[in-house]
Amino acid sequence: MDERLSNGQTIEVERPGWERDCPSCGEVVRFTELNLVEGVVPFLYCDSCSAFVAREEDAEELAAQAERGAYPETEQVESYYKAMEKRLPACPCGGCFRISAYPTCPHCVADLGNKGAPNWEKQRLSENKAVWLEGARGFFGRGRPSEVLKRVLNPGRR
Ligand SMILES: [Zn+2]
Ligand SMILES: [Zn+2]
Repeated sequence: MDERLSNGQTIEVERPGWERDCPSCGEVVRFTELNLVEGVVPFLYCDSCSAFVAREEDAEELAAQAERGAYPETEQVESYYKAMEKRLPACPCGGCFRISAYPTCPHCVADLGNKGAPNWEKQRLSENKAVWLEGARGFFGRGRPSEVLKRVLNPGRR
């Protein structure tokens, strides 16, 4: 499979979203959420810059592994994520896309996820919304430009 993260182009986007205080440093963090609810779209975050990759080609390949007309089994999702970790190229920042990675506060670099909670990894593998921080980049696969979230519009409090 063609493992490119994007078509090589980058665009800047603005999206409505939310803001909340970082639980670690108290600074405001702005973000939006990307719904990935059609079937199962496997996605990974970079372990050093809060970028994420959510490619249609991965969703299609994972769907092809499922029984016809059914959602993939939990074990299939898990093994697909692990395969993705191995074969995806590095993030342009030099980091790696990892199941254990989660967006970090742009001010103090604290992890914004709930790592350490029981079954954290299992929960992570069933998430269907990507957290997209202001300033972070999303990669959507070989046919699309990468998108930098330039600004969160009208952020509501969370
Ligand atoms: Zn912080
Ligand atoms: Zn990165």
